[in-house]
Amino acid sequence: MADKTVDQTRTFASMVAAKQGWALNPDKDFTQSLVEGLTTNWNRYGYYLCPCRDSEGSREADQKVLCPCVYSRQDIEEFGHCYCALYLRPDFASSGSTPAGIPDRRFSKDA
Ligand code: SF4
Repeated sequence: MADKTVDQTRTFASMVAAKQGWALNPDKDFTQSLVEGLTTNWNRYGYYLCPCRDSEGSREADQKVLCPCVYSRQDIEEFGHCYCALYLRPDFASSGSTPAGIPDRRFSKDA
C-alpha cells in the first residue's frame, strides 16, 4: 500500500466532508493534527484508522473505526461532531460552538 502524504489525506477528508454534507473543523491547527494522525495511521496500518482510537490489531477488527467511522453519522447528528471532532454538522460549525468530549460508541453495548 503506497504511503499517503498529509496533502492527500487532507483531500480525502475534504471529499468525505463534501460527500456527507459535513464541515471540517474550522480550527486549522486541530484539523491539521488529525489529518496528520490519519496519515500516520495509513502509513503504519495501510488504512485510515480513526486518529483518536487505538488499533485492535487488524483491519478486520478495526473495520468500524475506519474513517469515516460507522458511528460518525449518529454522533454528528446527535452531538454536532464526530468523536474526534474532525467532521462537524454545518450548523454546529457556523454557530462557533466548541466540540466537547463525547462517549465512544465503539465499546458501547448499544453500538
Ligand atoms: S471519529 Fe470517526 S469520522 Fe471522526 S475522525 Fe475518527 S474515524 Fe473519522
